[in-house]
Amino acid sequence: MNTITSGPILIATGNPGKLEELRTLLGTIGIPVISLDDISAVPAFPEEGESYEENAVGKAVHYSRHTDHLTLADDSGLEVDCLGGIPGVRSARFAGEEAGSAEKCRKILSLLAGVPAARRGAGFRCVLALARKGELIRVFRGTCRGRIATQPSGEKGFGFDPVFFYPLAGKTFAELAPDEKHRFSHRGRALRSLLTYLKKEWGQEN
Ligand code: IMP
Repeated sequence: MNTITSGPILIATGNPGKLEELRTLLGTIGIPVISLDDISAVPAFPEEGESYEENAVGKAVHYSRHTDHLTLADDSGLEVDCLGGIPGVRSARFAGEEAGSAEKCRKILSLLAGVPAARRGAGFRCVLALARKGELIRVFRGTCRGRIATQPSGEKGFGFDPVFFYPLAGKTFAELAPDEKHRFSHRGRALRSLLTYLKKEWGQEN
């Protein structure tokens, strides 16, 4: 059992890509996680907020009412500069309810057809919310800047990773090994600030 939280953290997400990333990131410092599949069925939280924070806090507080474990929720999205920041908070359903990574990437690429590299700037944003027993504890944020590639590249990751080119690595997020992506990504950054908080608040070091 980890010493920071005295038990696993519930990752309140139905997105397998996010679950895997958060499981890996928390696992590296010895915090075990459970997923929504490990607790009894809970009605889904409707993600209709106007901001990442509203959605992340809503999910964390909602699911934390159904477990004694600390509960962590992630709301995140891609913001494309020349599209005025869309798809943003609507990233999950931007290419339709059932669309997978390939369709989402195709849609972004078609909206940016003919746009030169200098105007293809984009960023990911992540808000993590931590709650326990229906009470919000705190939110943590992370961002990451890059640009939209001209074609998809790479097989790893999820969502928009194949078209998100990260200049400092010279690769798309889908071409990076998971630990490299986490070093730079919006989610990795938000999670590192969560870990700093947990260590400080719970006063434990690994
Ligand atoms: P939501 O936070 O559940 O509303 O979904 C966020 C959506 O943003 C995901 O379904 C992905 O399409 C996209 N997204 C968020 N983080 C990432 C990432 O790290 N890589 C690629 N796409 C992401």
